[in-house]
Amino acid sequence: MGVWQKELITGLLLFLTVLIVGAMTGLLMPLTLLLTLGILMRQLLQINRFEKWIRAGGRAKYPKTSGIWEEIYYHVYRIKKNEKKRKKKLSRMVDQFRQSTEALPDAAVVLGPNDEIEWANKAAREVFGLQPSDKGQRIPNLIRFPEFIRYLKSGNYSEAVILPSPVNNRITLAVRIIAYGAGLRLLLAQDVTELKKMERMRKDFVANVSHELRTPLTVLKGYLETLQDMDDGESPLLTTSFQQMQGQTERMQHLVDDLLLLTRLETQQKKTECVNVPALLSQICKEAETMKGKASAPHLYAVGGVPARIELSMETDAHIVGEEQELRSAFTNLLGNALKYSPEDSVVKVHWYRSTDSIVLDVEDQGEGIAAADIPRVTERFYRSEVKRIKKVGGTGLGLAIVKHVLMRHEAKLNIASELGKGSCFSCHFPLKRVCN
Ligand code: ADP
Repeated sequence: MGVWQKELITGLLLFLTVLIVGAMTGLLMPLTLLLTLGILMRQLLQINRFEKWIRAGGRAKYPKTSGIWEEIYYHVYRIKKNEKKRKKKLSRMVDQFRQSTEALPDAAVVLGPNDEIEWANKAAREVFGLQPSDKGQRIPNLIRFPEFIRYLKSGNYSEAVILPSPVNNRITLAVRIIAYGAGLRLLLAQDVTELKKMERMRKDFVANVSHELRTPLTVLKGYLETLQDMDDGESPLLTTSFQQMQGQTERMQHLVDDLLLLTRLETQQKKTECVNVPALLSQICKEAETMKGKASAPHLYAVGGVPARIELSMETDAHIVGEEQELRSAFTNLLGNALKYSPEDSVVKVHWYRSTDSIVLDVEDQGEGIAAADIPRVTERFYRSEVKRIKKVGGTGLGLAIVKHVLMRHEAKLNIASELGKGSCFSCHFPLKRVCN
């Protein structure tokens, strides 16, 4: 039988008893009143006890009672106990999380909606020199590097910003912000000092080697030219050997030139001028049509003349803020590739136009195309598809790496759309803010 039924039956039995006794004694009314008052008083007393218990936090074991009140006490007590357990578990989890983030080698700072510091781990306190009293302080007041402040304000946190540590400028940090929750952001800083050092060593090494290779190459080329001049053509073996040597020294010269250009792109300060891109494109296309066996893509024009394969269309006269020589290298590489990797009787389209949000250069060919899996890799240094290596198609594998670097320095993006057997379209998207005429 349920507690409620028991409680009801007890009440009914009490009233029945009072009815019988009242009828027998003629005191029905006073007795009923007395019983009602008794029941009311009992309930009031129970409520009072319950209120005292719950006011004390309901933590202690509940007072001894019976009936429906025992049930009420039991359920409230159980809810409280479960809540306590959950709280304990939660605080254990928070502790574990804090301990693990404290032990993280990377600095982590939780930022509030107004860039104020809500929490920082040990590494953050060390590399940013934060004090416990800095809690609540706005982070731009403590990390004052302009590039960091710009990054924080920009709201675009897709890439990290590289900064020296404010307490030790020999430490280089890659700082990144991750937005989460309602207006909260997590600032993460990783020590990339070693990585940057190795990157610098790699750059220096490539720059030095390429530079040092220039002199012996020039000497070799000089002697080779003299020997070729002396060749009377009597020995075919000697003649083809000279030709191959010349081809290879030229290839090496291209490699060295491309490596030096890449080094310059990585290390040199950006110069800016207003570049007349339409004029530049006309010139590059003209050069490509007329250069026979020379210049940047010798393998293309080695035999015979060049048919008028290039279709140049310019819908806009937009000039771009940038560096002319760099843009020239990038565009020449794209055009050179389009001509090199498509049949000699096919058309290569060069299109300069304005789209909704950028100024675009499309270089489109009807050539062999690039496999979908290769597309993300073609801009890597020295990346050349296996077919090119096997077929020994001329090239350094550095052209698109140069294009990527040049575009990066011009805040532009490279899009590659390609289908095997149909052709490729390389699009350079320049932001509208770069337009300068
Ligand atoms: P290279 O042309 O000297 O090999 P690049 O860096 O210019 O080096 O190009 C890398 C690779 O990308 C090429 O080897 C080729 O496989 C592929 N590629 C580049 N442009 C095209 C194109 N227009 N059509 C097909 N494949 C291309």
